[in-house]
Amino acid sequence: MSRIVYVNGAYVPEAEAKLSVFDRGLLFADAVYEVTAVIDGKLLDFPGHMARLRRSLAELRLPSPGSDEDILAVHRELLTRNALTQGHIYLMVTRGEADRDFVWPKGDTPPSFVLFTQKRDAIETREALEGLRIASVPDLRWGRRDIKTVQLLYPSLAKMEAKSRGKDDAWMVEDGTVTEGTSNNAYIVTREGTIVTRALSHAILHGITRVALMRGANEAGLTVEERPFTIAEAQDAQEAFITSAGAFVTPVVEIDDKPIGTGKPGPIARRLRALYLEEALRTGL
Ligand code: PLP
Repeated sequence: MSRIVYVNGAYVPEAEAKLSVFDRGLLFADAVYEVTAVIDGKLLDFPGHMARLRRSLAELRLPSPGSDEDILAVHRELLTRNALTQGHIYLMVTRGEADRDFVWPKGDTPPSFVLFTQKRDAIETREALEGLRIASVPDLRWGRRDIKTVQLLYPSLAKMEAKSRGKDDAWMVEDGTVTEGTSNNAYIVTREGTIVTRALSHAILHGITRVALMRGANEAGLTVEERPFTIAEAQDAQEAFITSAGAFVTPVVEIDDKPIGTGKPGPIARRLRALYLEEALRTGL
């Protein structure tokens, strides 16, 4: 099925959805994005994604493509036009089209604004049911990972490295501690039952699912500690898991060939996943 894609104000078949070769998103990765999950036709955590989009735009002094209400209307229209009830909506804002120059274009160059849908067949994927096997790699990304830019070459290389080692994903390590996964935030559950995840800083993306996870964990009476952890501590943990809008809460069962806990998805990760999905669906738009 050919999708209907939104490009700069128009809904067009995907084969006709085009940006200029001079678009700064292509030439400089001068662009930010968001991915919002869709279940039962509902947009999960939409206000959170909009708040982070505003922050990313402000950090890069990118122009806004419209109000939150306008952007919500485009999301809804895309869901309708593509009859999508389960999957994601990808949104990207670039600094627009200009002759190639490191200096930003002056004045009123409009941003490019693109959204498209991605269908998902199952919520309970193999990874969700069986857990992820992780390989560690050095974190060689730039220093502002809190801005959700489309500059994803290193995370893509890191994921390919994990795949070449027969694993599902990579956790990136900087100065001896785990920053995050290639496209997710990383957590461990200590033997004492404390959830540990790195505190927010420029070193990681401020995950929207992370916010919901922490709220759910607190409501479930679980203790969350925000601090860095090493691969060795993760390998010795009772459980490990990741969060993202794409994977929700997904257990990790192995890190660098070492099984975590029983080597099977743990009860805390499973419970947090169920709590997350329940709450996200309840509050979905
Ligand atoms: N960390 C990175 C590097 C990511 O790319 C993502 C999602 O794409 C996340 C964390 C998780 O963020 P969210 O929960 O908002 O999807």
